[in-house]
Amino acid sequence: MLIVLKQGVDGSYIEQFLNMMRLNYGLKCEVIERSNKKLIALSEKESEKVDMNLLYSFDCVNYVMKSDEIDEFDGEKFRRCNTTVNVGDYIIGKDRFCVVGGPCSVESEEQLWLIADRIKSAGVKFLRGGAFKPRTSPYSFQGLGKKGIELLLNVKRKTGLCVVTELVDLKYLDLFSDVDIIQVGARNMQNFEMLRQLGKCDKPILLKRGISSTIHEWLMSAEYILSGGNKNVILCERGIRTYETFTRNTLDISAVSIIKKISDLPIIVDPSHAAGIKWLVEPLAKAAVAAGADGVMVEVHNCPAKALSDGKQSLNLDEFDDFMNNIKPFVHASNKNML
Ligand code: PEP
Ligand code: MN
Repeated sequence: MLIVLKQGVDGSYIEQFLNMMRLNYGLKCEVIERSNKKLIALSEKESEKVDMNLLYSFDCVNYVMKSDEIDEFDGEKFRRCNTTVNVGDYIIGKDRFCVVGGPCSVESEEQLWLIADRIKSAGVKFLRGGAFKPRTSPYSFQGLGKKGIELLLNVKRKTGLCVVTELVDLKYLDLFSDVDIIQVGARNMQNFEMLRQLGKCDKPILLKRGISSTIHEWLMSAEYILSGGNKNVILCERGIRTYETFTRNTLDISAVSIIKKISDLPIIVDPSHAAGIKWLVEPLAKAAVAAGADGVMVEVHNCPAKALSDGKQSLNLDEFDDFMNNIKPFVHASNKNML
């Protein structure tokens, strides 16, 4: 086991930690330096004695790696990258809270304008909308494709909203040159070739968590992008599949706090795809704020009943206004400012 200590922490905290290791586990540990990082290495046998969760409760601990993870984290992986990602004029992360709003799918020019105008008036800076849709059934609406991207970019030009849209296949990448944030959807989280290619550009990437992926697998997918040189990765927790059927997915709210603990990447939460039900979107968004998320992504539609995808979980325009008003006090209480 390797315990990576935070940079710049006071030596007295490290002393306290070493004392705890000695008193609780009888381990006399030494701090070593590698790649400019302070580390404590434990043998396999020593590791068996320690409780990883207890280690994380110490402020000087940045990350704990189990033996089988160490190879994946050698050298370069000790690097932790930006804590913020610049998108247009905005900064995602740190003390800002961003809201991304918009329809599941871009359906028409009229639909997109109705939604874009309203979310902009509500103070939102980021418009989402799927042009290429990864649908479970091949018979469901697959998105407007290239036309959808053109509609989004037109709205961007006229409103100044930053646009977020999903890349489902690398063959479409050229169409995304003016898109502000490229979304990698849950189904593509482990499309390693796609991640590798996205590592070669400098565009912000919104990396959604795979439907059945562990936090470790998710972070490894982020590493595919980061290790290629693209440091602009934003994680998105969107719920995972569990045995619960009431909700579409189960929002893993603990993942938000865990990511905040073990990674420096910004993380936003998508309560819409987690819940699958519109009334649950606001409480989950509030929970996301409380857990330390850097933002939320919410589906909004001018007429959810007629939406071509995900109408059940989409807020209508009035509901979205209420949503914005209702989460603001929570954001301020968490010492963040709305972007
Ligand atoms: C989406 O955001 O439109 C989407 C398809 O989400 P996910 O990849 O999380 O299912
Ligand atoms: Mn959707």
